[in-house]
Amino acid sequence: MILNSDNHNHIIYDSIHSMVKSAKSRSFDCISITEHISQFKQPRASIKFHSVHRTGHVFSDFEEYLLEFDNVLEGLSKVNKGLEVDDISALEQDISSYVNQEKWDMLLVSVHELRNGEDVENKGLAQDKESSKKRWIEYMELQRLALESDFIPSDVLTHPVRLGRSTPLTPTNIDDLLYELGLAAKYEGKALELNGNDISRDYDLAERLARACGASGCEVTFGSDAHHPNEVGRGYEKAIQLIQIFKLKQRAIANE
Ligand SMILES: [Zn+2]
Ligand SMILES: [Zn+2]
Repeated sequence: MILNSDNHNHIIYDSIHSMVKSAKSRSFDCISITEHISQFKQPRASIKFHSVHRTGHVFSDFEEYLLEFDNVLEGLSKVNKGLEVDDISALEQDISSYVNQEKWDMLLVSVHELRNGEDVENKGLAQDKESSKKRWIEYMELQRLALESDFIPSDVLTHPVRLGRSTPLTPTNIDDLLYELGLAAKYEGKALELNGNDISRDYDLAERLARACGASGCEVTFGSDAHHPNEVGRGYEKAIQLIQIFKLKQRAIANE
């Protein structure tokens, strides 16, 4: 059975109603709103995030954010209350104590920065073979650690090939690295996300990820990573194709 939900969306630029309406018009059954933890006043003030949106709404607190979800179904069966949470190993404690104040339907874990604070989407990084390889290996290691960590009760590692944005040159062993990540997800009982934004930008890399998910037997989710209504569901058809080609198992989200 193909699950008809988009599990990764943001509401810092457009209203939750416009995102939900767009999901409905694209025939989704369920949508997850998963705002970045760095878009909340307190963590943004006390934690040094190296990857943040410079523009867009910053929520005062969870109370303000959760009010958004009132009367928002627009005909969908479920709108999941979620967050996208950075795993920065040195700051796990601070991040988890903030996030875990509430119960969430959908928590995505993401790695947006390397150990030295470099943003994984920063286009200005060195592009030689050696640096690229080193960066991919470190990124995969940080993501493996994020899968192994239980700092928040999350089932999903989001955009596992996002480093491709800054580091298009992948090492010759990229398939092995992705396979090992898949194995770690499988072992931890967590899912890797087929990210619509990444699928749209680099299908080849997304296909490699999907193949690795199939080979390792880990589950997957779909998330468009939409920041605007017209991006809701982006990449969904291609994700479904990949799920069928590699016989991937979609993770059923608790409240789907
Ligand atoms: Zn992200
Ligand atoms: Zn996102």
